[in-house]
Amino acid sequence: MSETLDIPKTVKVGGLVYDVILVHDRNLEDGQKTTGSCNIAFQKIWLEYGNRKVDGIKEDLLHEILEAIITQCNLADINHQSLTTLGVMLNQVLRENRLVFFEND
Ligand SMILES: [Zn+2]
Repeated sequence: MSETLDIPKTVKVGGLVYDVILVHDRNLEDGQKTTGSCNIAFQKIWLEYGNRKVDGIKEDLLHEILEAIITQCNLADINHQSLTTLGVMLNQVLRENRLVFFEND
């Protein structure tokens, strides 16, 4: 894994702290068919990092954060494909505008 992967070990969403768990191969290690998942009961986000581009992992992280928000806030009427698109677009906007707001808070 690259040193520049820059994925946080935890993320706080709506007052809950989620552990971010990087898994090399989710299918092999956990029998999971997706590259990411989120469980709000256990407050964990799993992300596959093996053989992937960093942007894909970041998009997955944003996607899982959006899943956490949607589940915690009962916003069940958003469909899953829209959520994936939001993760991809949010990653692009953050990256291309170098948006880091809170470093001096
Ligand atoms: Zn999802």
